[in-house]
Amino acid sequence: MTLKELDDAYVLHTYARGEIALSRGQNARVFDESGGDYIDFASGIGVNSIGHNNDRLVAAIADQAAKILHGSNLYLNRNQALLAEKLARLSGMDTRAFFANSGAEANECAIKIARKYGEKRGRFKIITLKNSFHGRTIATLKATGQDKFHEHFAPFPDGFVYASDLDEAAKLIDKQTIGVMVEIVQGEGGVVPLESDKLRALAKRLKKDKLLLIADEIQCGIYRCGEFLASQIYGVQPDIFTLAKGLGGGVPIGAAATTLKEVFSHGDHGSTFGGNFLATRAALTTLEILEELRESGELARTIDYFADRCRAVALNFPRLFTGVAGLGLMKALIAKDAQTRAAIMAAACENRLLVLRAGETHIRMLPPLTIGKEEIGEGFARLETACRRL
Ligand SMILES: *Cc1c(COP(=O)(O)O)cnc(C)c1O
Repeated sequence: MTLKELDDAYVLHTYARGEIALSRGQNARVFDESGGDYIDFASGIGVNSIGHNNDRLVAAIADQAAKILHGSNLYLNRNQALLAEKLARLSGMDTRAFFANSGAEANECAIKIARKYGEKRGRFKIITLKNSFHGRTIATLKATGQDKFHEHFAPFPDGFVYASDLDEAAKLIDKQTIGVMVEIVQGEGGVVPLESDKLRALAKRLKKDKLLLIADEIQCGIYRCGEFLASQIYGVQPDIFTLAKGLGGGVPIGAAATTLKEVFSHGDHGSTFGGNFLATRAALTTLEILEELRESGELARTIDYFADRCRAVALNFPRLFTGVAGLGLMKALIAKDAQTRAAIMAAACENRLLVLRAGETHIRMLPPLTIGKEEIGEGFARLETACRRL
């Protein structure tokens, strides 16, 4: 059997996979099983934040594996405590954290904190935005403001309300509302940064009424937009923020951090794997590398260069693109229509450039934050070659 046949026969068909079979990588270059090289503008959907085969991450994982991988949450874990401290320091907020294994689980935790925080006041409703994406568990699917995700899986838990924008979110607040959950920059829904004035106004309103701002920073956080949290760029302090994708540099880990440090007590929440030695060590090392990248000014230079090249492609091919969107290294080229997008995506793939979709017309790019100038140049050159043929 070919790999494709094996996959088809034994793996549930939840993904429309193509034929690419990756086998190794080096920073923003990945190689398939026959040695073909790809430029990686996707980072495994924003996960490989420090690229592939990073020396320091490889060494940290090997060192940790030789000591202890997992000890359970029944015992103290130095890596976990240090990581929680780091999240507080980097966010500039007085937080405690809970560690999970994925984004959806991090959001589940955030929803439970909000529910318990609102319990005594009879407040349980969480307002989310249309076109948002918050995960695939039953509760986070319901939090996701896109009807297409809700087919087949009813009944869902109650208590989620969708607003078309931040203005409407403010209007929908009622006696049962406990908070508003937003992606500061929407990812899956189409790379849409929220309007900063409106977000700050909403944050202020929520604070006044002792309601919660929950920032789902699973995709836009971990320096993806240029700062540790996209919230910091917007000048808002969420009551709860959630992280996952880029946090472990490829090792699965999710986190919910909150200034509501006393809401949970023993037994309110838990996870067998969550925050184990391996995942938290990987996250500590990843954050160390990313903090240096930010502090040295290199991340800002990469963001500028990537944005310039991105705008140039849009300008060079006005018959294909209507513009660009996004923030930091969370960028999109906006195709003229869905059909054009499909043609460009196929051509990019043929030219061995990995990109992602978002919304109906966007080609989303989430390169490793450590991507070099040469790799950016090569990636956009491949994209231009693809575009010229269309
Ligand atoms: C990817 C994503 C999630 C879900 O994360 P999983 O690790 O796939 O569960 C939730 N929210 C946002 C904004 C995401 O981008």
